[in-house]
Amino acid sequence: MAVLVTGGAGFLGHHLVKLLLDEGKEVIVFDNLWTGSAKNVRYFEKHPSFTFKHCDIRERLPDVGHIEQIYHLACPASPDRFEESPVEILETCFQGTKNIFDLGVKRGARVLIASTSETYGDPLTSPQSEQYRGNVNCFGPRSCYDEGKRIAESLAYAYHHKHGLQVRIARIFNAYGPQMQLHDGRAVPNFIASAMEGQSIVVYGDGNATRCFQYASDCVEGLHRLMNSDHDSPVNIGSDVEMPIGLIADMVARVVAEKMGQANCVDVTFLPQREDDPTQRQPDIGLAKRVLGWAPKVELEEGLDRTVDWFLAEKGMASGSRRA
Ligand code: NAD
Ligand code: UDP
Repeated sequence: MAVLVTGGAGFLGHHLVKLLLDEGKEVIVFDNLWTGSAKNVRYFEKHPSFTFKHCDIRERLPDVGHIEQIYHLACPASPDRFEESPVEILETCFQGTKNIFDLGVKRGARVLIASTSETYGDPLTSPQSEQYRGNVNCFGPRSCYDEGKRIAESLAYAYHHKHGLQVRIARIFNAYGPQMQLHDGRAVPNFIASAMEGQSIVVYGDGNATRCFQYASDCVEGLHRLMNSDHDSPVNIGSDVEMPIGLIADMVARVVAEKMGQANCVDVTFLPQREDDPTQRQPDIGLAKRVLGWAPKVELEEGLDRTVDWFLAEKGMASGSRRA
């Protein structure tokens, strides 16, 4: 079976492509390397079932033969990018997703879109179930992404009802792990980068904002199960273990210091909260458990341990890990 992965040179894309190749699929990746890496592509380039097409999904798409499934992941995901390139992100979410849906219709392929917890905005209720309609500011620094992903879901609904496209919608909550870019801008790689470089970790706000972090392999397993399920409305894919960001910063500082053999951890500096940064986020994952038989398995301590090992190895720095 041939499967297309858009955004396959990115962080989650890498883990998904690996899973699909390991199960014997033929995998085609569309990516313009905007936030992904050529290294992630080189990792698979000798695999006989892997094809990479360098393209921007906002433009005319390259020809592909028969494909049965499309995992549509192409879109920057780091909030740092939202302020840098809001128009390009909106175009990617709307025109890019529309191009992918048209391809899905043409090829009769099922399409899974990587939607997000950001469709709930700064939620006024917790945990967030799929029924929650969100609290999104449509005129602010995060709106290109939040509203972009909401329009992508809206397009999925329209293509399903108007064109009979089979759609799957994953609302992904914060994922982390190896293959993120060290200077991606998201919390976990930023914290690891600062700790490795001996700089203070920067936390926006008072450190009490919460997130639930899921490890990459759990997340892509959830996407894979959803794609192969019968469920055609949105499903939350995330960990439900809620933690304050300040505590995560402390955990990262401790793990890095331990692995680098340092007696002291780097300290944490608090800066003002960023505009529209959600203060609380936790998914209700009851639906994923029921319809997909899925729940995350990797605990945060274990996942951070593996992630820090990977970043240290990438930098050519030795790790004194207990689990290395
Ligand atoms: P990432 O930035 O590492 O990967 C995105 C990939 O898409 C990159 O390789 C990038 O080059 C490519 N891309 C972006 N715009 C493109 C375009 N116009 N044309 C072609 N390629 C393009 O991000 P990620 O963390 O791997 O996220 C993957 C998907 O999952 C995204 O759609 C994101 O919104 C969604 N998501 C991720 C998380 C998370 O925590 N990682 C949470 C919620 C949703
Ligand atoms: N954050 C932080 N310092 C950083 C990066 C992020 O304090 O260097 C905070 C961010 O403001 C948010 C949380 O960590 O409250 C998670 O941020 P991330 O960018 O990883 O994901 P988000 O949930 O915002 O999409």
